[in-house]
Amino acid sequence: MKDPGNKVIVININIDGIPVFPTNTVEMEPILCRVVSAIDSEPFVVSISAGKGKSKSLGEFFCPFLEEMIQFEKEGLELDGQRYTIKIGAIICDAPARQFVKAIKGHNRYGGCERCTQKGTHIKAHKRMVFANLYDFALRTENSFRNKTSKNHHVGTSPLLPLHLDMISSFPLDYMHLVLLCVFKRLILVWSGQWHKKKLRHKIGMREKACIDRRLRRIGISYPKYFYRIPRSRAY
Ligand SMILES: [Zn+2]
Repeated sequence: MKDPGNKVIVININIDGIPVFPTNTVEMEPILCRVVSAIDSEPFVVSISAGKGKSKSLGEFFCPFLEEMIQFEKEGLELDGQRYTIKIGAIICDAPARQFVKAIKGHNRYGGCERCTQKGTHIKAHKRMVFANLYDFALRTENSFRNKTSKNHHVGTSPLLPLHLDMISSFPLDYMHLVLLCVFKRLILVWSGQWHKKKLRHKIGMREKACIDRRLRRIGISYPKYFYRIPRSRAY
């Protein structure tokens, strides 16, 4: 049975870069937090660093957040006489940000798969790194990550290691880049005949494109305001 005296607050952390102005290279890199134990909680800012391009020093970028988080993990939080344990549920970032905060190789380099130890195959013709073997390689684990068992995966030491965090499962892979902007975007290009630039039997015709366009615009009207990227018309 759960100990009623020990309540846990689970938080998710998000790290991403936001261009401040469209015309120059100044970027803000906020660390955001959301309490996931409360489903209606809004994300709030933990820290913001800004500068030209991405942060160069991992230590500098994480220092204020880490100090506070380590203290929370050690001492918990007391609110209205109740002590809470604070736990990180997930660190949510896109692939470049994960590579940065975990100090690992990019997904387009040998040893770049975050989930298993296969080296990968570079397909020259498509300029792609492929991790196609789903069965023959050991999965990465919390221990293998912390002990840097796979030498070809790490490029440094992640500043997040002092936290009680599973360095593999606490970093979900992002659906937007893996599926929507990668696989699905390529499928659309193939279906619309723009991938190989040749006439295909299954090519989507102008009438179908116009129909998809209409439907996308119709769906866009009903999207909640919280969605930043709503479906929009695409000029072919
Ligand atoms: Zn893999």
